[in-house]
Amino acid sequence: MTRSFIALGSNLDDPLQQVIRAVESIRQLPKTTVTTVSRWYRSKAIGPGKQPDYINGVIEISTELNSSRLLITLQAIETAHKRVRAVRWGPRTLDLDILLYGDATVEKPELTIPHPRMLDRNFVLYPLFDVAPALILPTGKSLKSFIDNSAMDNLHLVDYP
Ligand code: ATP
Ligand code: CA
Ligand code: CA
Repeated sequence: MTRSFIALGSNLDDPLQQVIRAVESIRQLPKTTVTTVSRWYRSKAIGPGKQPDYINGVIEISTELNSSRLLITLQAIETAHKRVRAVRWGPRTLDLDILLYGDATVEKPELTIPHPRMLDRNFVLYPLFDVAPALILPTGKSLKSFIDNSAMDNLHLVDYP
């Protein structure tokens, strides 16, 4: 079993319901247990043009799927949520990113782990800190050290449940 963290995001078609349903879908996956779910956050879109706000969160899972299989499986859930791949960083019903997969480093054309932009994004760092406050990153640095240097600009806790 490998401990992995998945970032969830949505800014289309009832984003809060999208991410909640996605967690339920991940709970149904074979060889995989969802062990912790973060609080949900509302953030400003970083992509091109004017876009609706995002809902973001992070879950911790324990899985026997390898990282490639996990990516394919998460992409199938995105597709089931009618995600259309159009503009890069454009609006989407569901985005599922693998942040970390144990202490693994993966450098493949279709998969980079740790997720290369995770440490620059407060909408990833804060929910990740919810689920794993004592996390040490594969580099040996603590997640806390990044939280301490990251403001909650444009990031708001959602009042749910
Ligand atoms: P960002 O990666 O900056 O958050 P994005 O999530 O909008 O951007 P997508 O269009 O969802 O990007 O994904 C583009 C490609 O990224 C995917 O097809 C996938 O192959 C690849 N990818 C590379 N590393 C990862 C990862 N750790 N998790 C998910 N997808 C990844
Ligand atoms: Ca993403
Ligand atoms: Ca993605």
